[in-house]
Amino acid sequence: MKAKNEKHYFSIARKIVDQAPRYQKMSDDELKQQTTIMRKDLASGKNLDDLLIPAFATVCEADRRVLGMEPYFNQIVGAVALYFNNVAEMKTGEGKTLTATMTMYLYGLTGPGNFLITSNTYLALRDGKDIGRVYSWLGLTVDVGVATSEFEESARDKEKIYQADIVYTTNSALGFDYLFDNLASDTEEQYIKEFNFALIDEIDAVLLDMAQTPLLISGAPRVQSNLYTSSDRMIQSLQKDIDFEQSDDLKRIWFTTSGIEHIEEKLGITNLLGAEWTSVYRHLLLALRANYLFLLNRDYVVENQQLVLLDKVNGRKLTGTKLQAGLHQAIEAKEHLEVSLETRAMASVTYQNLFRMFKHLSGMTGTASTDKHEFFETYGLDVIKIPTHKPIARIDHPDEVYLSNQAKIFASLEAVKEAHAIGRPILIETGSVSMSELYSHILLREGMSHTLLNAMSVAKEASIIKLAGQKNAITVATSMAGRGTDIKLGPGVEELGGLLVIGTERMANVRVDNQLRGRSGRQGSPGESIFYVSLEDKLVLENGGKRINRFRSKLAKKLSGTNKLNEKLSESRLALKAVTKAQNVQKNQEIMERFQTLEYDQVLKSQRDTLYKTRNKVLEANDYRKVIDQSVLSVTLDMITKQTLTEEELSDFYYNNVAYGFKIPRAVLETLKNRRSSEFYQAFKESLQDAIADKLASINDDSQRIYYERLVILKALDTMWIEQVDHLQQLKSVVSGRNWGQHNPFFEYQREAIKSFDLMTKAILKQILKNLLLADLIKNEDGTIDVVFP
Ligand code: ADP
Ligand code: MG
Repeated sequence: MKAKNEKHYFSIARKIVDQAPRYQKMSDDELKQQTTIMRKDLASGKNLDDLLIPAFATVCEADRRVLGMEPYFNQIVGAVALYFNNVAEMKTGEGKTLTATMTMYLYGLTGPGNFLITSNTYLALRDGKDIGRVYSWLGLTVDVGVATSEFEESARDKEKIYQADIVYTTNSALGFDYLFDNLASDTEEQYIKEFNFALIDEIDAVLLDMAQTPLLISGAPRVQSNLYTSSDRMIQSLQKDIDFEQSDDLKRIWFTTSGIEHIEEKLGITNLLGAEWTSVYRHLLLALRANYLFLLNRDYVVENQQLVLLDKVNGRKLTGTKLQAGLHQAIEAKEHLEVSLETRAMASVTYQNLFRMFKHLSGMTGTASTDKHEFFETYGLDVIKIPTHKPIARIDHPDEVYLSNQAKIFASLEAVKEAHAIGRPILIETGSVSMSELYSHILLREGMSHTLLNAMSVAKEASIIKLAGQKNAITVATSMAGRGTDIKLGPGVEELGGLLVIGTERMANVRVDNQLRGRSGRQGSPGESIFYVSLEDKLVLENGGKRINRFRSKLAKKLSGTNKLNEKLSESRLALKAVTKAQNVQKNQEIMERFQTLEYDQVLKSQRDTLYKTRNKVLEANDYRKVIDQSVLSVTLDMITKQTLTEEELSDFYYNNVAYGFKIPRAVLETLKNRRSSEFYQAFKESLQDAIADKLASINDDSQRIYYERLVILKALDTMWIEQVDHLQQLKSVVSGRNWGQHNPFFEYQREAIKSFDLMTKAILKQILKNLLLADLIKNEDGTIDVVFP
């Protein structure tokens, strides 16, 4: 039953409603029995399609009994659309949380591997605990995948969590657990059983807004580099447009050929782009970006001699977050702060690729239509608009456009005063923390009490935003604050016209704008939304292009001194369209960046898949003789094909790989002169084989020996893979700076990535031998052994 059209979903929903009386008549026990019955059906060969109607009807009735809410018809339609792996567009307040119960239950019948993903911990906990009661009541197991606080992180019982049929969790918790699963040294430490089904709540926030930054596990610090400070000084001495150029939108920057020559001259070298100077070149690029692409008080602030990043979308301080691959350190050098330790990237995955691992994927959000195309291109998801339970009564006004920022703020303030005079609740949305603070300041000066919502914990935000619909309430918030929490209207507010949403600037894309509007007018209640914009808005300045900028200056000249300067612009079509146009430019830019992130991650993904697959084979295997033979062979071949090999080098090799006091065996020494001969080959190979046999002879228990071999191989895989992940991460930042001449950055990245993967494979084999021979085996009194790696 492959259904991809809305009519079909409606007719299925009707059938479910028709079944309702049957289920209403059942006793609690009978209703609970349905789970057992349907699981039996599955075991005997029925598939989920066959169970769609009875399962949904069961949940509808269970929802009513356990949660006191019975899904509306539209929610059932939404749940059906989710079952068929679409993005269900359901407006804010339509009850997406309840909608999910039907779909989650049906997939949950198949056992572990089904996830409801939310964008923050607070929502995962809230919904998992509250809504989770239905699944348990019906006899499925359900758990929450996040810890209540950082302190409880260690108490999280991953084994129990991932055994549950249904898990409520966040995208990042799941992503990190996935990466850690693949660093485990025992299958028992791998917890995620299956990637069967993921239902992503607020899917646009998770898959679009957060998709530019891959998840990353950082490991041991790398050796501290002193290149940051010197590179920063070098960049300060270069000239813009001569030594380096910046793109029109100011978002990319690169060295010119003459810039490269200039640097080479200063450093007294000739080949800055050559392999031996990669590290220097990388630091220079980082310093260039740090100096020109990152601005103090826009992208970051300095607090107590520490660099603190600001969130691009809402301007929050991202305490504890660091830019990757050395960029953070480069900015520290620029600001003359102490350069912090740079850590190695150990494992990394993008959300795109994490969620593409699921057999079934779907999502819900109030706003998806505007990004329909991308959902389809990247995830193969269709967007289905689910009609609202009651018709939408909210009035969305067209933008009011002003010439200057000041005029805009002044006009919006008038609207706030007017609405506040009659006690109507107002939600003022701002694009940045600084704007929210400015607005709060102005309101304070006007003597209007209000709540300012920025940079707080999501839990606090939720409790504040809940009250934003009460009489007289004025709430100033940054754009994403409290998402996922419903604003209910207080008594008497409907009569005043409901919640008034005022946007003080248009956001990075229409989708986010719509998200803001959707704060008002839930479940058919009245409401209004309006955006105040100006030609000086960040969006216009950055993306408006030269034409708009010229137009603005001309208009400013023309109107200066007249009282029209601060009035609404209503005549010029150019002015009215400027914001929308700039927004489109911005949006396309972001789409491109996401595609690029994905494109680069595809390269990493294919390598990651290969490595994780190999790793899992190693974890499950019981005989490693072949791998060890291969390792010996590889090292031996390496030896006979070396350009030169002196006795000293040979001695070093044994010292570093075989044993600290190892003497070169006579047979090897005697044949060394004729290194290409089969005699040398044989003698050398045997020397390794003998050493291995000796080492393994010290473990007399077979299962302990196998355990030791497994550990040795895994350790080698991990060490080298971590190097590779880190290498690719750095490579990416290096090639993306080569935006000039005949270079195609992605192509170069791909070529170098393949090359380094081959080298890695060889390095792993070599490392296996070394680990095997040099690791210390410590026997414990209880007979177990500990392994200490060199
Ligand atoms: P959304 O996520 O779509 O914005 P929520 O899931 O937060 O909406 O639900 C909004 C509110 O509507 C919640 O208070 C919820 O309890 C209530 N609600 C949802 N569905 C129903 C229903 N079928 N009957 C009664 N109340 C409902
Ligand atoms: Mg919600």
